[in-house]
Amino acid sequence: MKLHEYQSKRLFARYGIPIPDGDVATTPAEARQIAKRLGGPVVVKSQVLVGGRGKAGGIKLARTPDEAEALAEQILGMEIKGLPVRKVLVDQAADIQQEIYLGITVDRAARRPVMMASSEGGVEIEEVAKATPEKIVKVHVDPFLGLRDYQARQLALGIGLGREQFRPFSAIASGLYRTFVETDASLAEINPLVVQGDGSLLAVDGKIVLDDNALFRHPDLAEMRDLDEETEAEREARQAGLSYVSLDGEIGCMVNGAGLAMATMDLTKYYGGSPANFLDIGGGAKADKVAAALRIILSDPKVKAVLFNIFGGITRCDEVARGILTALEEVKPDVPMVARLVGTNEEEGRALLEASPYQLITASTLSEAAQKAVAAARGEV
Ligand code: GDP
Ligand code: MN
Repeated sequence: MKLHEYQSKRLFARYGIPIPDGDVATTPAEARQIAKRLGGPVVVKSQVLVGGRGKAGGIKLARTPDEAEALAEQILGMEIKGLPVRKVLVDQAADIQQEIYLGITVDRAARRPVMMASSEGGVEIEEVAKATPEKIVKVHVDPFLGLRDYQARQLALGIGLGREQFRPFSAIASGLYRTFVETDASLAEINPLVVQGDGSLLAVDGKIVLDDNALFRHPDLAEMRDLDEETEAEREARQAGLSYVSLDGEIGCMVNGAGLAMATMDLTKYYGGSPANFLDIGGGAKADKVAAALRIILSDPKVKAVLFNIFGGITRCDEVARGILTALEEVKPDVPMVARLVGTNEEEGRALLEASPYQLITASTLSEAAQKAVAAARGEV
């Protein structure tokens, strides 16, 4: 779950990271009020869960409350990368001398968090990593020791900060590390962290991605979810407890188990097709969960064929078949469907599908199922 900039920065502030004074507005009049309270120049910033808002025109500098109101009016009517802007953050403008990047994420290969800093802040870090990877300094953090002071100094030195900035920088780095750990985040990022004219540091942008699997430990953070930013399919998947990721292809896949889902997607590609989604219904899924999954798949207009790949262990094939049939009663599909059900109660499952009025193509191996699904998506059946 991604947090908005304003939410991320408020969390940062709890951990002692300096952020600009500011507030959120949903109307131009509110933006004006905030600008008036702050006095002096402000930035009006669209709050949408994508990067590159600046380049897209979603971040503007205003010198007066009048200007803030006019800009808020303009930005609140925008769509950025397909997302409508419903809120703007009105922040006291920073006096930017230099833009730094500071972020922390999990390095799976190293099996520990990695904190990264770069003198090339303000732009997306992926671009820096591509063009000038030597400009990113990294330290790995031992989770039992936490971020050590010498490591923060190493980062500060590595990006060429002056000695007088080491102490405030260390405080920010350790605040960011604590934010990351204590919120169970998978990413916490300040981009840019700016050096102001008077030499002080200020977190001007913030981004936090929380680990959904740990959200149950943070009811206060879970409440921050912006329902407007979720697609209908994502919402239904979350409520049904399904792992769902929408992709660009044309074959809708319903699989039980993450590894099996990956293998199914790979084989689909191997035979010349491309998956429309990753969808793991999990172990022991009952009919209602299967039905929700199928509804989600069929609501995607890109889907030209559906591929069910179920390995019955804890999950029973007859339950899955019942779920498929339940869903088919509701959503009348106009695309071909291929089913491969093996394992616990596979005969019962197959019998249920075969007795149904819907034309389901069956397969006994994964290769066969993938090939049939690719052919079906091309209209070759
Ligand atoms: P992003 O484009 O979505 O990453 O949004 P940011 O919050 O990082 O803003 C993009 C850019 O706008 C920053 O890199 C800055 O160059 C500029 N910017 C943001 N806030 C301020 C501010 O308070 N003052 C000034 N002068 N520029 C700002
Ligand atoms: Mn940014």
